[in-house]
Amino acid sequence: MVSALELAKRGVRVTVVERGPVAAEASWAGGGILLPLLPWNYREPVTRLTQQSLAAYPDLIDELRDSTGIDPEFLRSGMVVLPPFDAEAATAWHAAHDLPLEPMRALSVAPALAADEEALWLPRVYQLRNPRFLLGLRQRVEQMGVKLLEHTPVSGFHTAGHRVTAISTPTGALHAGQIVITAGAWSRALLGEHALGADIRPVRGQMLLFKIEPGVLTQIVLRQGIYLIPRADGHLLVGSTLEDVGFDKSITAEAESSLHAAATAILPALAGAPVVKHWAGLRPAAPDNIPVIARHPHFENLYLNSGHFRYGVTMAPASAQLLADILLDTPPSLDPSPYIWPPSAASLTAA
Ligand SMILES: Cc1cc2nc3c(=O)[nH]c(=O)nc-3n(C[C@H](O)[C@H](O)[C@H](O)COP(=O)(O)OP(=O)(O)OC[C@H]3O[C@@H](n4cnc5c(N)ncnc54)[C@H](O)[C@@H]3O)c2cc1C
Repeated sequence: MVSALELAKRGVRVTVVERGPVAAEASWAGGGILLPLLPWNYREPVTRLTQQSLAAYPDLIDELRDSTGIDPEFLRSGMVVLPPFDAEAATAWHAAHDLPLEPMRALSVAPALAADEEALWLPRVYQLRNPRFLLGLRQRVEQMGVKLLEHTPVSGFHTAGHRVTAISTPTGALHAGQIVITAGAWSRALLGEHALGADIRPVRGQMLLFKIEPGVLTQIVLRQGIYLIPRADGHLLVGSTLEDVGFDKSITAEAESSLHAAATAILPALAGAPVVKHWAGLRPAAPDNIPVIARHPHFENLYLNSGHFRYGVTMAPASAQLLADILLDTPPSLDPSPYIWPPSAASLTAA
């Protein structure tokens, strides 16, 4: 959807061909934290996309809010990282990227937490509310003339020489000058024999949604892969599992009890709070979280923007900008080489 918006703004006529309703898969299911959980553990190509996206987000949010009246609740809530953590690596990464990081006692930042332990405070971490962001995006792309063709699964490609001439759908072949695959965890399955090393696979993540008094916790909190994301109205998300179970999106009692126990140990106020909802989404996993944003190696009018794994909302604006630069042959806003198709060992070791 962000790719569609970026292309439409640059004058391209866009149709989104979507198997279900738009905005109901991973982008809906995610937590909306706009930074990798421990950013110092990721490679520079991830950091470049996240930093450029962060710079673009305020304008994108203003645009959605002003044009649709929908507030995606883009908040600078900051993140408290509880032990264990690598303070040295975290400090070095923040210094290198000119971002603030403060060692703190946990309770001095978030008094409702269970224990007053050493923590890292990352004040410049933002979040947004995925369903609202996506609703705003939907309305905005429609305002920009993007056509949404929902309930239309793409099942294959018609090709001639170095071009894809059409895509197959149940209602017949659809023709387009350029075709961009943004099918998330299903991208490799959709591409079939044309995937050529774009090794994108589903990784399930389950989330719990609680409701507590607004204001009990206002910061995102992270301990060892478990995070708490408080929304302004007292809803609080707890995530997430990382499960290699193929395209199975079911939820499990084990995940519910382990997420519940881990979250309650961090924030005792959750002990008696109702679980409002429990869901799962499929992340489009790529090695090292590095997406493919590129033209196909053989087909000159086929593109991929996928494989954002755990941080696809975070990286969306910069990924869409780079995709549009490549598709329109304009100078790229960032070095495209780490995101080439097929991903190569050389690109993955870049920086
Ligand atoms: C539990 C969880 C927590 C997360 N938390 C965060 C977070 O805090 N921050 C963050 O940045 N990221 C987070 N993520 C990751 C992020 O959600 C994903 O990286 C991102 O949403 C991927 O976007 P996408 O558009 O590529 O995929 P999706 O949003 O899954 O969209 C792909 C679309 O393609 C459609 N499609 C598939 N096959 C076909 C076909 N054959 N024909 C037509 N349409 C098709 C699907 O129906 C779907 O609508 C989280 C993910 C999960 C699951």
